[in-house]
Amino acid sequence: MAVLVLAEHDLGTLSAATARIVAAATQLGPVDLLVAGEGIAPVVAEAATLAGVEKVLSADNAALATQSADALTALLLSLAGDYSHIVAASAATGRDVIPRLAAGLDLMPVTDIVAILGPDRFQRPIYAGNAVETVASNQPRQLLTIRASAFRPAAGGNDAPVEPVRAELTAVTRLIAAHRTEGDMPDLGTAQIVVAGGVSFGSAENFKLVEELAQVLGAAVGATRAAVDAGYAPNDWQVGQTGKIIAPDLYIGIGISGALQHLAGIQGAKKIVAINKDPDSPLMQIADYALAGDLFEIVPQLIAALKRD
Ligand code: FAD
Repeated sequence: MAVLVLAEHDLGTLSAATARIVAAATQLGPVDLLVAGEGIAPVVAEAATLAGVEKVLSADNAALATQSADALTALLLSLAGDYSHIVAASAATGRDVIPRLAAGLDLMPVTDIVAILGPDRFQRPIYAGNAVETVASNQPRQLLTIRASAFRPAAGGNDAPVEPVRAELTAVTRLIAAHRTEGDMPDLGTAQIVVAGGVSFGSAENFKLVEELAQVLGAAVGATRAAVDAGYAPNDWQVGQTGKIIAPDLYIGIGISGALQHLAGIQGAKKIVAINKDPDSPLMQIADYALAGDLFEIVPQLIAALKRD
C-alpha cells in the first residue's frame, strides 16, 4: 500500500498545506510526494525535507509550467498504477485534478476529508459542516482530497531521495493571464491566528482596524460574506460555507453575528473570541471568550494594549 501526494506550490515555494497533507497521508501508508511543474528544483528540495516522505517524484516538464489540470491529470494517470491512494489538498488544484483523475480511472473520489479512520474509512463534513459523515469506500484505489486545516503539519528535517519522472505530456488548456493578490499576511487557510470582521465596520476604511489588529498579532484577516459583499474586504478573505474553511488556534470574530454559513467555516477553530454589542448573537453564544460592547471602543483599546506589551 503506497500513497502518492500531489504537492502544491507557487512562486518556487511549497504551499503550507502540503506539509499538512503529507502528515495526514502518512496515516495511510508510505508517502511519495509528487512535485510537478517547470523549474521546480527549489520546491523539490523543500519537499524532500518533510518528515514522512519516502521519496520525492520530480516531474519537471514545460507542459506543467502553469499547473494546468489536464496536464497534471495526465501525469497522475501515468503514475496511478503504483499507488493505492492518490491524495491532494482540498484546494483549487486538488478540487480540479482529483475529479478528473476519478473520471479517467472510473473511480469515485472521496473529497474534503477531515479525519482518517483507516485506509478506506474517512470522515468528511456535510450540510455546510453541520454534520460529519463517515465514508467506507470500497474502491480498488482511493482518490482523496484532504482538508489541510484539519491536520497538523509534518515536521522538517528529512532528506528524502529524489526520483525524476519522465512523461510525454501536452497541455490542452492555455493560461491566458493570472492576477495575483499581493500581501505579506499569513495564509488564511493555514494561519494559527485569524482576526475576522463583519459588515458592522461600516466602511472599507473602518475595516482597516481588523487588519491593524491582525498585524499586531501576526494573524491572517478574515471577513464575513456581508463584509465582502459590501466591498469592505476582498473576496479571498471570506470565511464560511462559500469561503475559506479555517482551523486556527485562535479566531477573533469582531462585529460578526455568527450566521450558520459563517460558522461552517470556523468549526475547526480551537479558541473563539467574539466582540459584539449584542451578547445574544450566535457567535457570542458559542465563543470561549465573549466581549460585549462597541467594537469601535474595544478594538482600538485592544490594539493599543497589545502594542504596549
Ligand atoms: P450581520 O449578520 O449583519 O451581523 C452584524 C453583527 O455586528 C451583529 O451581530 C451586530 O450585533 C454586530 N454589531 C453591529 N455594530 C456593532 C458595533 N458597533 N460593535 C460591535 N458589534 C456590532 N456568510 C459568511 O460569512 N460566509 C459564507 O461563506 C457565507 N456563505 C453564504 C452562503 C449562502 C448560500 C447564503 C444564503 C449566505 C451566506 N453567508 C455567508 C451570509 C450569512 O448568512 C450572513 O448574512 C453573514 O455571515 C452575516 O455577516 P455579518 O455577521 O457581517 O453581518
